[in-house]
Amino acid sequence: MAQQIPLVDYLTLGENPHLVANECTSCGARFFDRRNACASCEGTAFTQVDVPTTGEVRTFTIVSFAAPGIRVPFVAAVVDCDGTSVRANLINVTPDPEHVATGMKVRLATEVIGTDDEGTEAVGFGFEPLGG
Ligand SMILES: [Zn+2]
Repeated sequence: MAQQIPLVDYLTLGENPHLVANECTSCGARFFDRRNACASCEGTAFTQVDVPTTGEVRTFTIVSFAAPGIRVPFVAAVVDCDGTSVRANLINVTPDPEHVATGMKVRLATEVIGTDDEGTEAVGFGFEPLGG
């Protein structure tokens, strides 16, 4: 099997791929990027927490125009994973308003974005409809 590396460092691959957030130890706010201080309370201690792999679409935008090389249209969404907001694209869904809705149940899915010369695959993530 080809070696795989995650496209973003908060994506953990393996048998059960999932996202890992940095949670502020004083107020519980969660962030996916590296921070020196919490944006909510300025706390400086964080702990790593696993984010649930299923969630609900909070809001979405169907993107029809993008930089060359990016396939359009695609659906950019904010998914609420049991209280943690995740910005991600919806994948494995027809990108139109008849197939995408606010409140739709989705689950984390990974996809291979590209392969380098040594055959190592870069893996990104999106959310796909549950039971769809
Ligand atoms: Zn905080």
